[in-house]
Amino acid sequence: MKSLQAYRFALDPNDAQLAGLSRHAGAARFAYNWGLARVKAALAQRDAEASYGLTGDALTLVPWTLPALRLAWNAAKHEVAPWWAECSKETFSAGLDQLVRGLKNFTDSRKGRRRGRRVGFPRFKKRGKARDSFRYTTGAYGPATDRSVKLPRIGQVKVHEPMGALTGRLADGRARLLGATVSRTAGRWFVSFTIEVEREVPSSPSRRQCAAGPVGVDLGVKHLAVLSTGETVANPKHLAGSLRRLSRASRAYARSKPASVGRRKRAARLGRIHARVAHQRRDGLHKLTTRLAKTHDTIVVEDLHVAGMVRNRHLVRAVSDIGMAQIRRQLTYKTRWYGSTLVVADRWYPSSRTCSGCGWRNPSLTLADRTFTCHSCGLIADRDHNAAVNLKHLVAASASETENARGGDRKTALARQVPVNREPGTAQAGQTGSAVPPRTAARQRLTHDS
Ligand SMILES: [Zn+2]
Repeated sequence: MKSLQAYRFALDPNDAQLAGLSRHAGAARFAYNWGLARVKAALAQRDAEASYGLTGDALTLVPWTLPALRLAWNAAKHEVAPWWAECSKETFSAGLDQLVRGLKNFTDSRKGRRRGRRVGFPRFKKRGKARDSFRYTTGAYGPATDRSVKLPRIGQVKVHEPMGALTGRLADGRARLLGATVSRTAGRWFVSFTIEVEREVPSSPSRRQCAAGPVGVDLGVKHLAVLSTGETVANPKHLAGSLRRLSRASRAYARSKPASVGRRKRAARLGRIHARVAHQRRDGLHKLTTRLAKTHDTIVVEDLHVAGMVRNRHLVRAVSDIGMAQIRRQLTYKTRWYGSTLVVADRWYPSSRTCSGCGWRNPSLTLADRTFTCHSCGLIADRDHNAAVNLKHLVAASASETENARGGDRKTALARQVPVNREPGTAQAGQTGSAVPPRTAARQRLTHDS
């Protein structure tokens, strides 16, 4: 199986290279904005022509595709960007490519071919507001040595950490380089290489013999995760310190005067620490998801809270919500690589409110309760561990559901016991007898198939 993979490294550019990186990001943005203006002008022209009664081929063509936009750009660049030769031509292409994707997302979304939130018409990118990035797909870019990358027109830029894992794979032909994206996050430049690797997919049956059974995963903040096996996966080494600095920096930011120089500095500092925390957690999550996908045949995680439903202002929750999205994304492709299965629990499945021993539900459990105490069977368990075990139990429940799938309306045992309360502590918690029909607790998606 061929699969795509990315390697991302922090760059340590010198001053001249730093200027080059900014210039290239600016050039990509310039091409994007130029193309957008061109598309908008052509659309307006068409509208006007249509109002005179013109139709079909008589109407002005809108440069809607990458080849059309590139052609137009090459004809116009001497005029609109006499400095174009200072930048790699790849960066202008990258800007136009971003625009084409934006246009495609817009039309797909309007025609119902795209899931998720509605996508609006592309908007102009503003310097300092838009994300700085550009991309190479052809030419002499790539790792130059173990510790440096070659970026055309910018030079040989030092990389912050050794790239052995990538250069080794490229050298012996196990991987092929497809492109490199250079971008800036919280004041720091990164390069991300997209590569194509040939992977052998372990066939599931033979694999299952040596793999451990299902495992439930509950993400925390104090710990990275708690598994249904009882194992507590610790946070990456330096995360605690970063989290402390993060709350201090956000307090300092909140106290600063709006629109002051101090506020801008504190915002930049806050952004840097946020990026650091995100990196450290992502690193820890990668190690965890690889291990899980390799050793267990089924992994059960919670669904994420959909965007906009929980705009949690508590720092701690926000951090773990982001982790949830990452763990799920990583497991989606890693389970495919290693031949295991990912199960995502129903959004409303109250994994932390349910007793993993007898199924009793505690409607009054709050986020502050770190221990789950069952009033029915007397089980006392760590909150996160209890949740992880419940997630694991879903696999057994879903197996019985699959067998009876033809019925369509069959509810699992879990769902029949008690009507589901809405989990994230909304007003409905506690009204067990509400008019909400019982949902299928174990309704879930096997993302493995999608
Ligand atoms: Zn119980």
